[in-house]
Amino acid sequence: MLSIGQGYDIHRLVEGRPLRLGLVEIPFERGLLGHSDGDAAAHALCDALLGAARLGDMGVLFPSSDAKWKDARSELFLAEVRRQIESKGAVIVSADVTIIIEKPRMAPHLEAMRTAMASALGIPVSKLSVKAKSNDGIGAIGESSAVAALASALVEVP
Ligand code: MG
Repeated sequence: MLSIGQGYDIHRLVEGRPLRLGLVEIPFERGLLGHSDGDAAAHALCDALLGAARLGDMGVLFPSSDAKWKDARSELFLAEVRRQIESKGAVIVSADVTIIIEKPRMAPHLEAMRTAMASALGIPVSKLSVKAKSNDGIGAIGESSAVAALASALVEVP
């Protein structure tokens, strides 16, 4: 059966942290706060895939109460999601990620994110889309206090 999933994540943008999105480190004076690396794009993609594969969500798989995931790089989350999807006999058909961020510009980094996240999932780059848009200056994202991401995924589930 073809199964659809959606994911959403948001993290605060603060001083003293690296900005990592889509597994790519982006030069910027602030970064994302989180129990892990705060990579909202990777986390939204994880949740979309888990939802589509009927495997729950990141909160269930990677509880922030578990010290194992403290400061974890999101490569680990995507690798574990991949492992669980494969062990269920499910196959990722495609996924699409949208990052909502005011600045810096994401355009120069989108291809690197596609390559990195597709590689972590063991899928061809052609199955993954990553795009970005601003929040038109509105609210916390528009004021560059936060970065959010949305994702959709299609998974073939046995
Ligand atoms: Mg997160």
